[in-house]
Amino acid sequence: MKVLKFGGTSVGSPARMKNLLDIINPAERQIVVLSAVSGTTNNLVEIGQAYLAGDKKKAISLIGTLKDKYELFIKELFTDEQFLKQGKEVIDYHFNVLANLANDLFTTIEDKVILAQGELLSTTLYHVYLRQIGVPSVLLPALDFMKIDEDNEPIVDYITEKITPLLDKHPDVNLFITQGFICRNAFGEIDNLRRGGSDYTASLIGAGIRSEEVQIWTDIDGMHNNDPRIVKGTQPIAQLSFDEAAELAYFGAKILHPQSVFPAQKYKIPVRLLNTMDPQAKGTLITNTSEKDKIKSIAAKDGITAIKIQSSRMLLAHGFLRKVFEVFERYKTSIDMITTSEVAVSLTIDDTTYLGEITTELNAFGSVELDVNHTIICVVGDFGAEKHGYAARVLEAVKHIPLRMISYGGSDHNLSLLVKTEDKVEILRSLHNRLF
Ligand code: ADP
Ligand code: ASP
Ligand code: MG
Repeated sequence: MKVLKFGGTSVGSPARMKNLLDIINPAERQIVVLSAVSGTTNNLVEIGQAYLAGDKKKAISLIGTLKDKYELFIKELFTDEQFLKQGKEVIDYHFNVLANLANDLFTTIEDKVILAQGELLSTTLYHVYLRQIGVPSVLLPALDFMKIDEDNEPIVDYITEKITPLLDKHPDVNLFITQGFICRNAFGEIDNLRRGGSDYTASLIGAGIRSEEVQIWTDIDGMHNNDPRIVKGTQPIAQLSFDEAAELAYFGAKILHPQSVFPAQKYKIPVRLLNTMDPQAKGTLITNTSEKDKIKSIAAKDGITAIKIQSSRMLLAHGFLRKVFEVFERYKTSIDMITTSEVAVSLTIDDTTYLGEITTELNAFGSVELDVNHTIICVVGDFGAEKHGYAARVLEAVKHIPLRMISYGGSDHNLSLLVKTEDKVEILRSLHNRLF
């Protein structure tokens, strides 16, 4: 059974929703994961922010504007009066949920309820549309099987346990529709898998049902060899290994949610990145194998803070790094890059929630320096230990730009540079011109 995920643009208009059946084959048993209609989650974020700021008037006005868009959406999606009425009931229900929050105490719990309405709307409307055109389908509520634990880690065994009976209940139905992004947390509350999380949903369901393949349908023909929003003339990559794809996703290639590769990798499920606007394009196939001896792609991750801890006590000391890492562990803050010398260690984080506390604790080990507004540039490919010349090619291409950190050899497929964010565009273009 395959899992097909369609992103925001792929369901971004009534016409696009209707066209999904050019790709989905209703004769094949499959699970279709939908994102919210493009723009909706951003609008829901704004509504939540208005509520959190105590500005109910603004929240209600934003809700009204968004609802108007959906009123137009359903008029185009449903040509039959009976189904238009059902569509109207769907949007009335979800927009009432949004508006009724004005009466409650508003916390991050309610905020997550708001964010969930986008995927609930898109899937329910699509389900009603399938009924209108007579295609049998079942709407699977993601909140019944998608769960994260206390550490925000999804639980694949839980998904398997909960989704299997839901699928078995409908042996005659081929098409199962469900929401990307949303889940329940350890307290049973509505939560989500972070922005872009529908990719993660698809991969998790793929793992949960041991799917034959996960397809991520989006608005571009696969993973490109550089960020197409910044660099002209980028090209799709035909094949990537799970490790390479994971590095690119983690280090900023927006086409994939940062964690989405791991469940598929663990259960060896091939992932295809495909283009809804050009379904015949080959896209990118992500599996265990990869083209050898090649620089594949470049990605960039912004919002990075570098922390340097300098200490003469580090000289010849054992256990120093352990103590440093334990500070980050206590604050559940993950480290992306690390470089060391005999008297100092530099590392980077992207989550600065506990930066104050972390800095205070690190001060006990030596002097601490912070550099904010940095970007990690990640060059990904197959550069095994026996290969040579890759680092030289990369460094030659960026010799006119100041580098804060360089990390190479952590794996066979990643060379990372830390630069000021203001240098990002130049470095991406320069690398592109010289490496490809
Ligand atoms: P969806 O809504 O379908 O999930 P996203 O906007 O999350 O789509 O991801 C697709 C977008 O990712 C593309 O439109 C493209 O602009 C951006 N992107 C960034 N880096 C890359 C890359 N290396 N390859 C392909 N797309 C990329
Ligand atoms: N709708 C969510 C977002 O915009 C999840 C997704 O699209 O993957 O972040
Ligand atoms: Mg996305």
